[in-house]
Amino acid sequence: MKETKYYFTLIFIFIFVNSITAQDYFYKDKAPFNAAIPTPEEFLGYEIGEQHTRHDLIVAYLTKLAEISDRASIEVYGKTHEKRKLVMLTVTSPENLKNLETIKSNHLQFVNPAQTPKNYNEVPVIIQLGYNVHGNEPSSSEAALLTAYTLVASNSLEVLAYLEKSVIFIDPTINPDGRDRHTQWVNQYQSKTLVSDTIDAEHTEAWPRGRTNHYWFDLNRDWLLAVHPESQGKLKWMHAWYPNVVTDFHEMGTNSHHFFEPMKPIGSLDPIMPKENYEDLNTLFAPYFANALDKIGSLYYTKESFDGTYPGYGSSYPDLQGGLALLFEQASSRGHVQDTDYGKITFPFTIRNQFTSTFATIKAAVENKGYLRKYQQEFFKSSLTKKATSGFSGYEFQEKYDQNRKKAFIAQLLTHKIKVYKKGDTYTVPLKQPQHRMVQTMFETYNKYSDSVFYDASAWSLANFYNMKYKGVKSVKLGTEVTTTKGIVQNNKITKASYAYIVNWDDYNTPAALYYMQSKGLKVAAAFKPFTIGTSNGKINFNYGSLLIPISKQKKTSSEVYQIVLEAQEKFNVPVFGTNSGYSMKGIDLGSNNFRVLKKTKVAMLIGEGISSYEAGEVWHLLDTRIHMPITKIRMNNYGSADLDAYNTLVMVSGNYGQLDSLKRQKLKNWTAKGNTLITIAGGSKWMIAKKMVKESLIKKETATEKENKNKKEDTGTKVAALTKRLPYVEASEHIGRERIGGAIFEVELDITHPLGFGYRSSKLPVYKNNLVFLAPSKNPYATVAKYTENPHIDGFISKDNLEKFIKPAASIIVSALGKGRVVLFADNPNFRGAWYGTNKLFLNALFLGAEISVPK
Ligand SMILES: [Zn+2]
Repeated sequence: MKETKYYFTLIFIFIFVNSITAQDYFYKDKAPFNAAIPTPEEFLGYEIGEQHTRHDLIVAYLTKLAEISDRASIEVYGKTHEKRKLVMLTVTSPENLKNLETIKSNHLQFVNPAQTPKNYNEVPVIIQLGYNVHGNEPSSSEAALLTAYTLVASNSLEVLAYLEKSVIFIDPTINPDGRDRHTQWVNQYQSKTLVSDTIDAEHTEAWPRGRTNHYWFDLNRDWLLAVHPESQGKLKWMHAWYPNVVTDFHEMGTNSHHFFEPMKPIGSLDPIMPKENYEDLNTLFAPYFANALDKIGSLYYTKESFDGTYPGYGSSYPDLQGGLALLFEQASSRGHVQDTDYGKITFPFTIRNQFTSTFATIKAAVENKGYLRKYQQEFFKSSLTKKATSGFSGYEFQEKYDQNRKKAFIAQLLTHKIKVYKKGDTYTVPLKQPQHRMVQTMFETYNKYSDSVFYDASAWSLANFYNMKYKGVKSVKLGTEVTTTKGIVQNNKITKASYAYIVNWDDYNTPAALYYMQSKGLKVAAAFKPFTIGTSNGKINFNYGSLLIPISKQKKTSSEVYQIVLEAQEKFNVPVFGTNSGYSMKGIDLGSNNFRVLKKTKVAMLIGEGISSYEAGEVWHLLDTRIHMPITKIRMNNYGSADLDAYNTLVMVSGNYGQLDSLKRQKLKNWTAKGNTLITIAGGSKWMIAKKMVKESLIKKETATEKENKNKKEDTGTKVAALTKRLPYVEASEHIGRERIGGAIFEVELDITHPLGFGYRSSKLPVYKNNLVFLAPSKNPYATVAKYTENPHIDGFISKDNLEKFIKPAASIIVSALGKGRVVLFADNPNFRGAWYGTNKLFLNALFLGAEISVPK
């Protein structure tokens, strides 16, 4: 203890002189400061910007501030996958801090449409400062430290006024796992003599890089999907506080400058977001950022890029809760200093811009607090009076066969505080409720847009993600309110049977139960044809894929078998039935050859440079957290020495697979031909075809040059130029952007008699497409498992050309034979962002039933 004290004193003396200049650079206009509060420099032992600060030190500093100051308190709102703390520091005047609960309940009256308080200016404005959602965009967390210090230690009249008129919540690191991955990288490659050369290792972070969280998910897409603990904790906090202003700090290309809102105008014709949010509030706030950045001479831009169309960004979700969410983007020094076209960009420079925008936000929020409050009140009041353009008054859905998928969807609705009612088997979600706009978000689909270039997804109707069969209704019949997901899944507890157990494959959790039972040593078969049989629960119609556990074929006693089946049911809440006879009333009997014994899946996936960390992360997350099975992640540089025979299934997601030379490709082919299953997704499928690993083909887009060459062949001489329509140069990026598929939902027709379609009751299924991989249907009549329907568009932007020439004629899933094995080629990503519960089963079918799939000739 004593030694530590000495150590800190020494550091304090050592850095004192330097820290004056550091402070001057960031916050000289916020003086005087309370000397009893340690500056970040004093606490950390280095100047802000000198190196990157680890998340645990950020937490330690904020905890220290909360300990010693009567202006601050700290709470832990969650834990990341890697068990890092997610913290929120509350800073306000000592008076406000004492009355926080009263302030909260006064504030919440404004978000309750049933109440009409008018004291807009009296209640402190609620500001939530969020930093560093993308781990390798590190400047903002450092700015968070400076912000916390300034708010806690400054005695300037300006800061004292802010504290009196607002309650400020600082979330210093939204994505601590990703941040620390990046922090470790840049600190370990930092030289004492700083190296600004852009190609230096310090500036070229290795795969999977720090942007994403533990499972390589982009948390700045997860606000709507709520797949991860980081977002779940944040959403809970959001719905406890409904802040008036929320910030979301990012970094962009090193050669850029600084960006603040307004963004590009909203892309959809009839946006869910009120237009006033974009038009009035942004116009109100923008001059504050401009003035603050003008003062320090930093270059910036607005309006030209980014769009807040997708509701799952940190800079759009709070907008749907009556707040104003603000996106900031700062040119990245990615590392401590880097060369740019304008000279060097330093880490402290990037931190100062984020710090400057932070204080401009606080100033704007405080000076307009009455306006912001009134806006939020109006936002929630209008949710009860707003008429939906669709003319519907609500939505109804039902799901008979897959209770765990239905439960997951309802959990999603409840997370967003959407009111759900149940009558009989029908669930109803009325539009007339405070979360009116979230209901629209979940169910409404779009096909008309005012813009054609999207920063990301242009479709997010979650009901389609979950393959919920739903419909809009003109009048709602409510029934009883559903306030918890407990009791949604109802399965009879399995009793001991004498002949066999059967598990319905329709349920989302059944693959997890299968893996569990196989791991415990049970032999499990799958039904390749449907049947109807008497069970412990009476006569049941079993669908394709239903699992059979015949008791006499096990190497265990009937009691042991019962115990394992019971555990599987308790763990995964799946529908299990016992039977004392193998004789079916309809369809195949239990001794039929149409039951195939399933081999236990041993799966590996290729990862590393050139491969999509998002898609790989989605596979890893699905198998690890929902199926509870191991997946070996083989880095590309270990592929050559890897013994592939240790696996019977290999996954290749989108990637360029540049490291796989012809010898290594032959290794892959030989392994598959032995009878194994290769599953490829999107770009992975394209690669398989392009490298002629399978005898399939792509519906290819012609590049401009290819088009020209074709024209040359067909025509000669001067005619060539005349055939190409001239277009204005300035519109090029707009035109090219229109032909991307940023993310849209299409309907496919699925062969539900094919093992890849097992567990589905309807052949119509929504899929998510965010790529330009167009598979030509197979020449084999049995091998095109899913094909887009005649009129496939469900939701999201798609150009006419893409829809007519590329989507409509294409296949979504094909199976291609390779020796005794097979390649399952997905054009679309069945595991997108961990939220596509509706199509996960396609992937899991490939994984668990793959070995039994043949391509009939
Ligand atoms: Zn970012």
